[in-house]
Amino acid sequence: MSINFSEDAGGEIITATVSLPEDYNESSLRPRTITEYIGQEKAKENLQIFINAAKMRNEPLDHVLLHGPPGLGKTTLAAVIANEMGVNMRITSGPAIEKPGDLVAMLTNLNEGDILFVDEIHRLNRAYEEILYPAMEDYAIDIILGKGPSANSLHLDLPHFTLIGATTRSGQLTAPLRDRFGVTLRLELYTPEELRRIVTRSAGILGVDIVEAGAYEIASRSRGTPRIANRLLRRVRDFAQVKADGVITKDVADHALSSLEVDKLGLDAIDRRMLRSIIEFYGGGPVGLDTLAATINEEAVTLEDVYEPYLLQRGFLTRTPRGRCVTRKAYEHLGIAYMGQQQMDL
Ligand code: ADP
Repeated sequence: MSINFSEDAGGEIITATVSLPEDYNESSLRPRTITEYIGQEKAKENLQIFINAAKMRNEPLDHVLLHGPPGLGKTTLAAVIANEMGVNMRITSGPAIEKPGDLVAMLTNLNEGDILFVDEIHRLNRAYEEILYPAMEDYAIDIILGKGPSANSLHLDLPHFTLIGATTRSGQLTAPLRDRFGVTLRLELYTPEELRRIVTRSAGILGVDIVEAGAYEIASRSRGTPRIANRLLRRVRDFAQVKADGVITKDVADHALSSLEVDKLGLDAIDRRMLRSIIEFYGGGPVGLDTLAATINEEAVTLEDVYEPYLLQRGFLTRTPRGRCVTRKAYEHLGIAYMGQQQMDL
């Protein structure tokens, strides 16, 4: 039997934060309660207070906006909230709402207290957003029937529901929509220790034999993102089965991840290409995001949403008003001599 470990899934890179086909069984790994949900302590603490208060008043939870990079657990947290509140959750996404009728149908089908989860809410058509304003504020919608002078407006009351919006780019939300969320929670990249706990928990569910140092090795190379940690765990498990005796030790994890081109700090080929290009073509920066994206043939939004957060967190990159700059640490990590004199000393 031969497995090519460096092959990435469906042309996608293994450390992509967006969902890949191989993540199909993600839902089995989803924590269901707030206690099972690891990390995000600040968000959880606030949320617990809002949940308790809403339950005490016997009212639905205020509308919640979750924002943060992909794969950090926004959908999972929304499901946890529904579970803790003991209500049902309906799921849709901004781009899936193709006409106003789609949104009206979703809203009118809700039951009292239900949660409507709108993923990628920043991609909701601006014209349809206006349906949401009275729905969120007064639990009602006004539908215009017909055109011109004979047009009639129909007022529909909605059940008291909670809208949970998720977005990777809260800056793209219009102010009127953003203002209608009573609670805004920002999800942060996870620490290696939090990810180690996630990997250990997932290994338990998947029946994978793993030692603590093995879990930590995967965790510290997962770009602070649970989705990647779970994906790498599955890949390393295959490696352990084929090349070792099924147990994920630190060495097994290290070998498997190196053959997947995930380096010691979790940087993948695109991260390295991005840093290297800034150094080689732009003297370390500053370079504008669009220029950089064109240079390495990636989309600017992908670089901004998916790659930058981790590079910024690890201190490889800084954002300045004139563009992106790499830091001395990036030179060192890539093994390139740092001249230092032209660029700002970061
Ligand atoms: P997002 O909606 O932000 O893109 P998801 O909620 O789909 O992210 O999370 C991706 C996967 O990561 C989930 O299937 C879940 O297994 C795992 N995950 C996310 N957050 C946590 C967490 N706090 N604890 C444990 N597992 C998590």
